[in-house]
Amino acid sequence: MNTDKEFRAKIRQQNKETAEWENSDEGMNYNVSTVGDIVRGAEKEKKLIFETLRSLPKNVREKVIREVVFVMFMPSIHGHAVDLYVPGEKVTLIILNFTSMKNKSKKFKMTCIAHEIAHVILGHSGLTNDKGAERKTDNLCEKWGFGRAYKTYKWFE
Ligand SMILES: [Zn+2]
Repeated sequence: MNTDKEFRAKIRQQNKETAEWENSDEGMNYNVSTVGDIVRGAEKEKKLIFETLRSLPKNVREKVIREVVFVMFMPSIHGHAVDLYVPGEKVTLIILNFTSMKNKSKKFKMTCIAHEIAHVILGHSGLTNDKGAERKTDNLCEKWGFGRAYKTYKWFE
């Protein structure tokens, strides 16, 4: 009886330690898929992605870790960020242009990352016919505690 109790306490402790490790930079480095860091040591940018993930609900974070690849650099893409669903791979690439965001605040950059994650969670990856997609995405992003990516939606709606 006592041993059983001790065993369960030990498992609980292990689970707690695992969760702490998964949320550490080392754990995130191990679990989160990123591309582009090889090109130029983008450690700072990678940590911003990790910090954004840590601020998200656990189920969202786990889905992102399973199904999203973050692509960094790409100075030629238009805008700051975009998400691209790869059907055969059942994976979404979140392409982040940290070059174009270099003079923006940390809060702005994290909002960009969270905004693209919100698109993934809402199933907008790739092309969507929903004219209200950007507004809904910003609503979710704001619910998670980030800012809004757009001030107006007149280009979309
Ligand atoms: Zn968007």
